[in-house]
Amino acid sequence: MVKSYPACREAILDIKPYVPGKPIEEVQRELGIKDVIKLASNENPLGPSPDAVMALREAAEKIYLYPDGSCYYLKQALAAKLEVSEEQLIIGNGTDEILKMLGEAFVDPGDEVIVGDPTFSEYEFAAQVMGGRAVKVPCRDFRLDLEAMAGAVGPRTRLVFLCNPNNPTGTIVSQEEVDVFLNRVPSHVLVVLDEAYYEYVTSPAYPDSLAYVRDGRPNVIVLRTFSKIYGLAGLRVGYGIAHPEVIKALNRVREPFNVNSLAQVAARAALQDEYHVGKSREVNNEGKEFLYEQFRALGLKYVPTESNFIFVDIGRDSREVFKKMLAKGVIVRTGDIFGYPTFLRITIGTRRQNQRLIDALREVLSEVP
Ligand SMILES: *Cc1c(COP(=O)(O)O)cnc(C)c1O
Repeated sequence: MVKSYPACREAILDIKPYVPGKPIEEVQRELGIKDVIKLASNENPLGPSPDAVMALREAAEKIYLYPDGSCYYLKQALAAKLEVSEEQLIIGNGTDEILKMLGEAFVDPGDEVIVGDPTFSEYEFAAQVMGGRAVKVPCRDFRLDLEAMAGAVGPRTRLVFLCNPNNPTGTIVSQEEVDVFLNRVPSHVLVVLDEAYYEYVTSPAYPDSLAYVRDGRPNVIVLRTFSKIYGLAGLRVGYGIAHPEVIKALNRVREPFNVNSLAQVAARAALQDEYHVGKSREVNNEGKEFLYEQFRALGLKYVPTESNFIFVDIGRDSREVFKKMLAKGVIVRTGDIFGYPTFLRITIGTRRQNQRLIDALREVLSEVP
C-alpha cells in the first residue's frame, strides 16, 4: 500500500523548530552526570520568589477550576505598577505566545516583518507561521541598526521587532535612537519593543518605552516577561502593553484560557516581591563584573551586556567547546544558531556557578586549540 500523508500548509515548510537550551535532566540522563548547572536559557539562578512558591501551594487545590480567562487580578496589579490601564494590557502564556498572536493578528501571507540579525528567533517564526517573511537587518557592532531597520520598511511591512536588550548580544538601543526611529516609521507599522530583560538594564540611556504607550502612540507594543528576573519560566507568563486598539486585535486571536491559574497567582506574588528582584539584579551585576574579569584573563573578547547573559568570542568552534563543557556538567548556548560559530552565549549565574563555568571553560580551552 502506498502511504500518503496529509499535506501541511506550504508556508510552514521553511520553519525550523525552536532549539531550546539543553535541559538539566537530559544531560544527567545522557551523560550520567549528577551535578549539572544550566547557564543556557537566561533563567534566574536564584530561582523564583519564595512568595510566589507559597502562593502556588495555596492555589494548587483550585486547579480543577478553569482559570480566569481575563487575568483580572494580574492585570489590575500590573496596571497599578506600570501606571497604565487594564485595557492597555494583554497577558500571554509566556511572551512567546504574544509574539505568535502578533503574527496571527497583523501578518497576512506575503507580508514582511523586520528583525535584527542576530536576534531572538521567535520573531521570524511569528511571520512564517502566517505565510509572511522576516527581513533581516544586520547588527552593527552587535547592536540593532535602527537606521538600517527604518530604511528596510516597505509597503508590505507590518511589524518591526526591536529586541532591547537584544538576545543574544545583550546590547541596547537608546531612548534617542528609538525616538528618531519611531518618528521615521509610518504609523501603520507596529513596532514591538521586546523588553524581556528590562529589569537587568543599568544604562541611563535605556528608553522609557511605557511613556510611548502612555502618550497614546498607537503603533508601539512593549513586551515583558515573568520568565527572566522573576524566575517563573516554567509557568509561562508574559505581558504586552499597548494602545487599547492593538490589545483588542490581539484578544481576537487569544485562546480563551491562555494563562493557567497557577501562573496568574505566582506572577502576582512575584510582582510584589521587590526584594527578590533587587537581590537578583545585584547578583547579576556582581556576576557580570566577575565574568568580564575572568574572560579578560583568558584573553577572550566579549560584548558588554545590559542583560543577564554575555556573548563571548571563544575563537574556536563553539559546538566542540559546548560538548566538552557538557561533559563537565556545564550547559551553555552555542553561537552557531545565531550565525556566530565561534561565540558562546552564557547566562550569568550565582558566584559558585560562575566560578565553575570559568574553571570548566579554562580547562576546555586548553584542550581545544
Ligand atoms: C526569554 C525571552 C522571551 C520570553 O520568553 P517567555 O518565556 O515566552 O516569556 C522573549 N523575548 C526574548 C528576547 C527572550 O530572550
